[in-house]
Amino acid sequence: MVSVLTTQPLDRPLDYKAPPGGVADGAFVLVPLGPRLVMGVVWGRGRGGFDLSKARGINAVLPVPPMREEMRDFLEKAGAYTLTPMPAMLRLATRAPGLTDPPSMRKVYRMGEGEPDRMTDARSRVLAVLEEFGGLAFTLKELSEAAGVTSSVIKGLVKQGAVSEENTPRDLPYPTLDPSLPGKALTEAQEAAADDLRAGLRAGSYGTTLLRGITGSGKTEVYLEAVAAALAQGRQALVLLPEIALSAEFLTRVEQRFGAKPAEWHSGVTMTERRRTWKMVAEGGAQLVVGARSALFLPFRDLGLIVVDEEHDSSYKQEDGVLYNARDMAVLRASIAGAQVVLASATPSLESWVNAQAGKYRRVDLKSRFGAAVLPEMKAIDMRAEEVPSGQWISPALRQAVNQRVEAGEQSLLFLNRRGYAPVTLCRACGHQIECPQCDARMVEHRFLKRLMCHQCGENMPVPETCPKCEAEGTLAAVGPGVERLTEEATALFPEARIATLSSDLFSSARALKQAVATIAGGGADIIVGTQLVAKGHNFPALTLVGVIDSDLGLHGSDMRAAEKTFQLMRQVAGRAGRADKPGQALMQTYQPDHPVIRAILSGDEEEFWNAEAESRHQAGMPPFGRMAGIILSAEQADVAMAAGMELARHDGPIRAAGAVVYGPAPAPIARVRGWHRVRMLVKAPKGVALQRAVSDWVAGVRLPKNLRLAIDIDPQSFF
Ligand SMILES: [Zn+2]
Ligand SMILES: [Zn+2]
Repeated sequence: MVSVLTTQPLDRPLDYKAPPGGVADGAFVLVPLGPRLVMGVVWGRGRGGFDLSKARGINAVLPVPPMREEMRDFLEKAGAYTLTPMPAMLRLATRAPGLTDPPSMRKVYRMGEGEPDRMTDARSRVLAVLEEFGGLAFTLKELSEAAGVTSSVIKGLVKQGAVSEENTPRDLPYPTLDPSLPGKALTEAQEAAADDLRAGLRAGSYGTTLLRGITGSGKTEVYLEAVAAALAQGRQALVLLPEIALSAEFLTRVEQRFGAKPAEWHSGVTMTERRRTWKMVAEGGAQLVVGARSALFLPFRDLGLIVVDEEHDSSYKQEDGVLYNARDMAVLRASIAGAQVVLASATPSLESWVNAQAGKYRRVDLKSRFGAAVLPEMKAIDMRAEEVPSGQWISPALRQAVNQRVEAGEQSLLFLNRRGYAPVTLCRACGHQIECPQCDARMVEHRFLKRLMCHQCGENMPVPETCPKCEAEGTLAAVGPGVERLTEEATALFPEARIATLSSDLFSSARALKQAVATIAGGGADIIVGTQLVAKGHNFPALTLVGVIDSDLGLHGSDMRAAEKTFQLMRQVAGRAGRADKPGQALMQTYQPDHPVIRAILSGDEEEFWNAEAESRHQAGMPPFGRMAGIILSAEQADVAMAAGMELARHDGPIRAAGAVVYGPAPAPIARVRGWHRVRMLVKAPKGVALQRAVSDWVAGVRLPKNLRLAIDIDPQSFF
């Protein structure tokens, strides 16, 4: 009798009769559940406690490598940490299609032993192609295309033995990466940092290193040396990247370093390729995976290294479904697998900075910029002293600086972290602002698409001709800037310049975006108008000026991470300038030049900023010096969500017993999303409290209505 965990929403694994001869722990199996067959994983011995003759049997053991104990342990611990039921954790670990199918085969064609009875033109072309490519095998389609013949010509040659037909598995191993190839020449600083990382890998046990390298310091080359060390040991490596767009450039670098491309895992990968990656990772046919956060749940056979690049990036926090932070889960997985973690960033998260200060993580600093490049000069433009006409956002000072660059044949970046044309559409007659019908959010005008769009739920509609409230005609006005509007302004101000806009919603695919980035990097534009997208690691060698349109944008609001995020974003954006041999300059338009965050950015003294920020969080008992959990209640009726929150607040015994405090309920800052009303609660606890247990006891002790959704967010990153 064995216990089988399935992806079905049950509260525990179920017992099944093992097949004759038994079944290994971790085996992937098909089991009957009600009238259906579902996939599951053998999770240990059965619990018993019922009539054994009534137990159903395992239907089939699937031909994929069993889930290793290390992986099962990881899923259990990650589930316990994030308070996620195990079926949902198993779903994360099996997100590849066709795992239940028999191993899929395909036919390939090679040169055979026999001779054709008579030679025709078409036949000789087929044989010539096979000759030219030596012993290589072709699919039928490839061979008929290469030879310019129909498939029946090839089939005819097969019959006569002149061409051989073989069956091979469809999912083939990835090409071998060679860690012994010479990498790029490293600077002395890079070599020293790489040595530190290699030492960690030699230890062969768990350890985390914060690799802090300012933008342009060449930290990618450094951690690729750690990857090389892992591969040389015969272990696998995983590199997590925050943005798909990054991977094009990155894959090329990997290929240059190791002679072949790695496996990829992200939303842009086809289903067939996903299955291949999943299987090859499990069988050891993939040495290196480059992927998005969910790659952490791949079934590595021998994981030796996880690199989390741009570890501070907020996209590592999954905000839908299973709420986990990939950075923290990487550390957890590595600690179980006996692997090394490298957290790489120019501007680390406060959490990682504090862990390094406390000695929990090693810290390696890469100070000098690679090559001749130096950090850009940073200056504020005090907007209180600038005369900017209404409806425009580029100050005379910034305009002058851009003009100089255009004349010198250098690139400028105008940075505004706001997609679309204008954030607000307002009726000049009655003051009505157009909001999303389903969310508590304003509709953002996207002029290229000629639509109003909700950035919360994606709802969109044509821009109306009349005000939906007072029905006045032609009174709707765009208020405030988005990148599209900034492009319009730049086009008017710099009529001679070639202007390119980079915003995620302007590209239909990751490939189109890659293409645009490559064109711009090659000198295809004089001025780039861009959102946060450009802050993320793209290289623009001719870029020497960054103009930040609204440096104050992130400083408002109630988010405790506002200062940290603004600091990181501004440093990253400024770091785009002057990466080749020309020095760069960053000009930040601000109405608050004396704000501590703006001053810290300008002074360039990062340690001072982190120290001050850590001190203020410490004082307030905020993470990472205290712990938090967010509770999000949503329901179709506002009063249902609020009443449930009140009920939870009244029964907060388990929370108080743990020494923690409950705040709320209160309507969430975005109180309605997709028609669901949202109420938030916050649990704050001192460090060292068993927060997860207190929260699960608390929630389990209160009867909640059926038409209510409850989500628990341990270590919340955002509070919307
Ligand atoms: Zn109106
Ligand atoms: Zn909406």
